[in-house]
Amino acid sequence: MQSVDSYLSEIVAAIAPLPPAELSLTDAEGAVLAADVTAAWPLPGFDNSAMDGYAVLAADVATASPDAPVTLPVDGEVAAGDSTARTLTAGRCIKIMTGALLPVGADAVIPVEWTDADVSQAAGSNDSQATPGPADRPVAGTVRIYQSAEAGHAIRRTGDDASPGDLLLPAGAYLGPAQIGILAAAGHGAVQARRRPRVTVISTGNELAEPGQPLTPGRIWDSNSYMLAAAARQAGCDTTRHPTLRDDPETVLAAIERAAADADLLITSGGVSMGGEHDVVKAALTRLGSVTFRKVAMQPGMPQGFGLLGRSATPILTLPGNPVSAFVSFRIFVTPAIRVLQDLPAQREAPRQARLSEPVRSPEGRRSFMRGTLDRRAGVVTPLTGQGSHQIASLAKANALIVVPEAATQLAAGELVDVLELP
Ligand code: AMP
Ligand code: MG
Repeated sequence: MQSVDSYLSEIVAAIAPLPPAELSLTDAEGAVLAADVTAAWPLPGFDNSAMDGYAVLAADVATASPDAPVTLPVDGEVAAGDSTARTLTAGRCIKIMTGALLPVGADAVIPVEWTDADVSQAAGSNDSQATPGPADRPVAGTVRIYQSAEAGHAIRRTGDDASPGDLLLPAGAYLGPAQIGILAAAGHGAVQARRRPRVTVISTGNELAEPGQPLTPGRIWDSNSYMLAAAARQAGCDTTRHPTLRDDPETVLAAIERAAADADLLITSGGVSMGGEHDVVKAALTRLGSVTFRKVAMQPGMPQGFGLLGRSATPILTLPGNPVSAFVSFRIFVTPAIRVLQDLPAQREAPRQARLSEPVRSPEGRRSFMRGTLDRRAGVVTPLTGQGSHQIASLAKANALIVVPEAATQLAAGELVDVLELP
């Protein structure tokens, strides 16, 4: 039997990161940056208002209070997107909207809530006025201001978020929503990145029926392909769920070879244990020579296969069919394989530790991954009942896998163990 660590090292060493490409922002979500992204322009690009209100000279409203408001004439308004630079005359004010270009000479914005202006009118458009011009919509009269403000109040200064040359995102950054946001805000329409890996999941077995369809005796619903496809999606992949294959080596081989042509990673479930001709994935792929099968010293998940397919050397991981075995195998071997494709460190983080709430037993010489419920605050993990590799109901209740080392055959309550949290 091969150790978990040695098998994992073999997989990680054999897989190459996807090549970087120029990806549009729409395609970049879930991709990994291949080069640093720096700011080409300041962010914000110009001084602008943080609130709806009135641009003023702070000195002009220094004495304003609820009892003694300062009244200023209003010289029109400036809205977000107006591009003509306005100039403020001392002793007057300009109505201003959030994000609008700060008039030259203004050094503070008085929020509309500190004035006698109609909030709904100040916050909205000036529809009541006849066809206002873009930069110079007249607002009749004056405004009363009830509160003073420091210079700089409610002003967003040029470059207060980022300056030209600042590193916005380093190479290797995973592009989640906030990262897509900064790329867009900084004006990048496309980036050099490694796309989301394309993963195809294939389950095999004559016994498999489609969930939602009636069962005949001896058959079961296919859970693995849905579960593994969901896991691959959660790991940041574009996932295809192949229709379930019957246990026929020719069909299985043809389907795998076809799927390999447009996938970055193939995952199969079933057909890799010791059943001889019934284990069709093993039987079919052994002929190719580039995929090898072995027993890995773990429980569940002992029978495993790995190799590279075709001219594009598409990696394939063949997982055992028992649902808990397939799930654990995904977590232990497929997740790192996907991270290598993404050019991320193979392991996301070191396992955390928790104390066992009760004793556990484990076969000698095999690393056990037991389903448990982790109480993070207490730092205690409780093994679930139903540790059979077919018992997916207990898997669905688990939020962690308890790792029992190869050398241990039993651990007492209170002992510290590694736990892998489940998303
Ligand atoms: P195998 O690895 O093909 O020998 O299958 C081992 C066990 O897992 C058998 O009980 C199968 O019925 C079951 N199994 C295989 N594939 C699936 C699947 N896609 N969904 C649920 N159970 C499966
Ligand atoms: Mg089978």
